[in-house]
Amino acid sequence: MQKKYDVVIVGAGLAGLSVAQELQNRNVSFIVVEGSKKFGHRHHIGIFNSQVKKFNLESCVVNRLRRFTFLTPAKSFVHLFGRKEGISYVDLNKLSSIIDKRIKGKIRFNTWIKDICYVGGELCLVDENKNNIFAKMVIDCSGKGSSISSKMGVEGSDIYCKTLSYTLDNCSAKDKSNSITFLDSSLTSSGGAWIVPLKGTKFHVGISNMFPYNKPGREELEKKLNLFLIKKEIHGVDFRRSRRITKKIFKDSPAIRPAKRFVKDNLILLGDSAGQPSSFFGMGSPAILDMARVAAGIVEEAVKKDDFSRSQLSSYETYWKKNFGRYEFFNGVLREIVMRLFDDEAWDLMIDKLNSLSGKEFFEVLKSNYTLGILFKLSSFRLAIKLFSNFIEVVYDRRV
Ligand SMILES: Cc1cc2nc3c(=O)[nH]c(=O)nc-3n(C[C@H](O)[C@H](O)[C@H](O)COP(=O)(O)OP(=O)(O)OC[C@H]3O[C@@H](n4cnc5c(N)ncnc54)[C@H](O)[C@@H]3O)c2cc1C
Repeated sequence: MQKKYDVVIVGAGLAGLSVAQELQNRNVSFIVVEGSKKFGHRHHIGIFNSQVKKFNLESCVVNRLRRFTFLTPAKSFVHLFGRKEGISYVDLNKLSSIIDKRIKGKIRFNTWIKDICYVGGELCLVDENKNNIFAKMVIDCSGKGSSISSKMGVEGSDIYCKTLSYTLDNCSAKDKSNSITFLDSSLTSSGGAWIVPLKGTKFHVGISNMFPYNKPGREELEKKLNLFLIKKEIHGVDFRRSRRITKKIFKDSPAIRPAKRFVKDNLILLGDSAGQPSSFFGMGSPAILDMARVAAGIVEEAVKKDDFSRSQLSSYETYWKKNFGRYEFFNGVLREIVMRLFDDEAWDLMIDKLNSLSGKEFFEVLKSNYTLGILFKLSSFRLAIKLFSNFIEVVYDRRV
């Protein structure tokens, strides 16, 4: 007879691996199924120092970011993180293999889930070779597109943020400080860029833009990233032959809003598929790590009670609302305003305002912890007038 798992986790990205790790020492039988043949498209991500400690990620930290800058044609403004604050740069590749060992290789690669159905009242996942996997519930960690929950009738998160990143080798930089940079509209139209020295002559660099106000294609982002590297005096990159670029990632991320629902009967959504890491200025992975821990506790309880109904799983949504929903309203409003009403002039006015925040306040903004005081500092009469006139234009455009 075919084995029936308590839980099937679909996707071996940060979300799938984190929840698998949390389930490992609980009384729950599970398997992770991953469509690719190995941990695919892994890259490096910045996570707050406090989260690195909380989730035991020290061994995967490759660098610590000490400052952020604003780059405008006229000037470069620098803010330093405080002594305890800051961002650690984590190697997702390394993290994946560490977790793989911790969960004793319970990952089935090359298993792309094509369909989900109920067979004789039991939940059944069908892969592309028509193999069946039976389970009591699914944790959808399938990332952008929410391929699993959409099959179960839950709409996932919208995709709006474009990111391009390179890993560079054999390069040198004049400025070796570890930094994140926010750029004016000559480089990004709504987003940021980063250069992080890895080991020796290796660097990780990237740029991200939100849309729809600007819909950057790959070529446009490539041009902007190259220009950014020239401005930051990274030497040795031969872009025409791309010899020094050892890895290129061009990806959409859900940056707009969380999915309307995170749970359904026999289903929990986690990570990008739920649109959880959607804080306005990025750094969303801490939400994944936190929610993975919560999901594991709730799943264990469901297994104990043999109840996988929406009402049994609903405390997962309640936790989100209580811990992350607090600032979600401000995040949502800000994102909608940027998406619909910003143009280059408005973006530059905001970069100017961001620059007026203290280091501590800016760190709160990075974490998307807006207070009324911070929001007040970010607003200005000129920006308000600009947005109002853009609003009139949008309304007028819609009418005609
Ligand atoms: C270049 C870049 C830089 C980033 N930088 C940061 C940062 O600095 N800080 C931060 O917090 N966040 C950052 N992010 C965002 C962060 O990396 C993501 O939010 C996070 O990795 C998402 O993890 P996930 O597991 O939800 O999704 P994914 O990593 O996309 O994993 C989903 C997995 O599911 C698999 N899958 C999908 N459908 C199926 C199916 N039907 N069957 C089987 N398998 C399936 C896919 O193959 C994939 O492996 C960055 C993202 C990018 C692209």
